[in-house]
Amino acid sequence: MKIEPVKEYAMNNFESKLLSFGESKAYAITKPVILKPQNDIVIATPSYSFYSAIGLVVSFATFIGSIIYCLIDTIICKVKKIERKKPIIVVIISFILFIIFLLFGNIRFLWWFMDIVLYLTNKCNMNCSYCYQGNNKKDRIMSFEIAKEYIDKICEQSKHNMIGFFGGEPLLNKKLLYEIVNYCNGKTNNSFSYSITTNGTLIDDEFVSFCKKNNIKVGVSIDGKKESHDKNRVAVNGESTFDKTLEGSKKCLKAKLNCMALPVVCTNNIEELSENVKYLIDLGFKEITCNFNYCDNWDDESISVLRNQYEILKVTYFNELKKNNPIKIYPIDTKMQFMINKNVSCVSNCNRDRTCIDSDGTLYPCIQFVGKREYQIGNVHDGEDRQRRIELIKIRNCSKTPCEECSINRLCAYGCGCIRFLTTGGITEVTPLVCETEKIYIDTANSLLGQINKESEFVKYLWLRGNKW
Ligand code: SF4
Ligand code: SF4
Repeated sequence: MKIEPVKEYAMNNFESKLLSFGESKAYAITKPVILKPQNDIVIATPSYSFYSAIGLVVSFATFIGSIIYCLIDTIICKVKKIERKKPIIVVIISFILFIIFLLFGNIRFLWWFMDIVLYLTNKCNMNCSYCYQGNNKKDRIMSFEIAKEYIDKICEQSKHNMIGFFGGEPLLNKKLLYEIVNYCNGKTNNSFSYSITTNGTLIDDEFVSFCKKNNIKVGVSIDGKKESHDKNRVAVNGESTFDKTLEGSKKCLKAKLNCMALPVVCTNNIEELSENVKYLIDLGFKEITCNFNYCDNWDDESISVLRNQYEILKVTYFNELKKNNPIKIYPIDTKMQFMINKNVSCVSNCNRDRTCIDSDGTLYPCIQFVGKREYQIGNVHDGEDRQRRIELIKIRNCSKTPCEECSINRLCAYGCGCIRFLTTGGITEVTPLVCETEKIYIDTANSLLGQINKESEFVKYLWLRGNKW
């Protein structure tokens, strides 16, 4: 990929510097971007930061311990009639440490939970051109025993658990979905929240009422209008899938399920991105995640179309807010959250707090790695190899990229192991493609946030809502 659009963008918008990404180059922003955060509004997503949690717990324990020590020491001194200075300094220091962790640590640990994704099957009734599983999907389904064994394990560790159902097409194993949810509902000492990602073609009334009853969030993979959708999302026999996906989407929307549209942005539908998002909004979707197809053949021209499309999306987003129809479009919403909540970075929890269980019971740290044995972190029977997970995080974190010099790296997904894997086949490198797309998202979010801040009455719609999918 050539670097001209990045250079032009970086030069026009920020003070920037040419950096090398291996053989490639990109322009990093070296002067801080002027963001307009609403510091008084805190977004707390139900996740946790392991190290902050440890820090906070240890400092709090030290604080309490030092108070107890002080009291015991005072009593002993009184009883033995010894005169000695009380170790009050220890109390003060530990109290200060505790306050520092409380204020500057990531306090999201308060919602400690397990986040797991179950691959109900690797099979699919479709053959999308950009499928992460390729054309030769394994003919395998998960058994109830595998799911049960892992669920029993996590229930011992955590009270609240998030379970995502994934595939292949998970509704090809609908029976297991029902079995698992019913089994979990029987565990009265634990609470669960559920989500499912489906291509929408097998959604029926029974599924919709089951989701309604169990508050299951449904992500429907629909690319937008028929012409766009059918370019890439075809059935195994090559036929159109749009009508079935649309019908499934409408059933979910009509039942007012908590549902999200999941279009994939490719070079062959990029010109229609804003139209597609508008179409999905008009259908009734309130949340739309635009998944960028990193494996496509992006070039300067298509990236510049992406930028233009995000300019239009920005207007769409704002107009919907004005119409009192607050929507969420990811990744713009994600970036705005990071701009507002300075305690979190884009990849602070990447590969850290999620476990994906393949249909054969193998564990992976992210859905992108499922099936790639070198990234496995254990299996259902033996449990998670925590050391292997830490190793993978270390490999990702320790790699030296030019991004460390970039002032917007906190907002950027450059450290995301999955994106690195998709763009390079490994987890150590970042490519200019990531740089270009991230700047488009960050720039759009920055500009949109500035616009929204001017119209402060809209802020409450945006931010006083939960944001974890
Ligand atoms: S619906 Fe999902 S799993 Fe099935 S072919 Fe398309 S992308 Fe792959
Ligand atoms: S942190 Fe992101 S925007 Fe900055 S140079 Fe790296 S990839 Fe580009």
